[in-house]
Amino acid sequence: MAQLSPLLKQATPVVVDHGEGAYLYDVDGRRHLDFTAGIGVTSTGHCHPKVVSAAQEQVGKLIHGQYTTVMHKPLLELTRRLGEVLPRGLDSLFFANSGSEAVEAALRLSRQATGRPNVVVFQGGFHGRTVAAASMTTSGTRFGAGISPLMAGVHVAPFPHAYHYGWDERTATEFALRELDYLFATMSAPNETAAFFIEPMLGEGGYVPANPEFLAGLRERADEHGILLVMDEIQTGFGRTGRFWGHEHFGARPDVVLIAKGLASGFPLSAVAASEELMGKAWPGSQGGTYGGNAVACAAALATLEVIQEEGLVENAAARGAQLLGGARAIGEKTAAIGDVRGLGLLVGSEFTTPDGKPDNATAQAAQKAAAERGLLLLTCGAYMNVVRMIPPLVVSAEQIDEALEIWADVVQSVAK
Ligand code: PMP
Repeated sequence: MAQLSPLLKQATPVVVDHGEGAYLYDVDGRRHLDFTAGIGVTSTGHCHPKVVSAAQEQVGKLIHGQYTTVMHKPLLELTRRLGEVLPRGLDSLFFANSGSEAVEAALRLSRQATGRPNVVVFQGGFHGRTVAAASMTTSGTRFGAGISPLMAGVHVAPFPHAYHYGWDERTATEFALRELDYLFATMSAPNETAAFFIEPMLGEGGYVPANPEFLAGLRERADEHGILLVMDEIQTGFGRTGRFWGHEHFGARPDVVLIAKGLASGFPLSAVAASEELMGKAWPGSQGGTYGGNAVACAAALATLEVIQEEGLVENAAARGAQLLGGARAIGEKTAAIGDVRGLGLLVGSEFTTPDGKPDNATAQAAQKAAAERGLLLLTCGAYMNVVRMIPPLVVSAEQIDEALEIWADVVQSVAK
């Protein structure tokens, strides 16, 4: 009898039967409040009726139509609709199936468009698990472990992680920008650099928002040296942070935006958006793949976008995010076990630390486990996996946030020494 590979490490013993909104129901009929949303994917909630019926209708019409031969309506319509929500000028798009594929596609695009070999990524960033994306990932050593040689041409610059450095935001930002210039002077001349790849908020790296000064500094250097600014909005995009795009909080203008996760409410779909001029500098045939822009996934994405707009989910993410961050901060302040609580919209992380300020992975894991036993599903993140993160769907209600915070307060009290 076949068994699931032990490589698929599961944080809870839950086997799900079905999902509805912010809840998952397991095979024993138990209800779980899902503050993971499939790692920020099921933004419209599990099985939103509009997404379900759009997908069902599409399945009966056309499941797959390959764009090298034919286009289909959902793909064209989604392209048009995304053009309305993307930053101005980013009006050329193509589709893939996962975040990692979008990252790799943007890497190829940047190298082809600039003719330069190197990319600069930021410490603690996560961009995926395929070999190139893993080579660009520094949110933990495990992603590149045992798969060397990693891709050459990746340089890592500091991210303004003020809490980690023990500095204020301004000092951390000045340091990060100065180190970036030092990297240019010592490792990778700017005219050898194709692109910066950055998340507007470190996701897997521990829920650390960037800031306007830092992103303005990147934009300035990008403009000065002809480097592309690739904004990885895979975890932060599509309303998750309380703005449609995470980078909107910081006022930076990207050259390329990467979209996945919340885009299609759980159907595998990702997208790369750039200006037509930039896309025109890349080589046809080097992008895309068999399944990119699948008809059912595109129909689900169209319904997702409609639900987000009709139900005011970006506004809900902002309001419920403020409630969640405020509540988590109040809980964090009551215990020495939590050193910092950070977030943007419905991405909120509580960083567990020992009394002498060291990362405390054991207590974070214990908190995650205790929460799951109480019916609240959470994830961990950060280089030390000591940050417990909450990522409810964007449809989450004020009552559900209260329900989660009540469980979280008990959990923290029970695991904190
Ligand atoms: N970039 C970011 C910012 C992500 O959060 C993730 C997934 N956690 C990825 C890229 C990779 O996406 P995928 O797992 O779909 O390949």
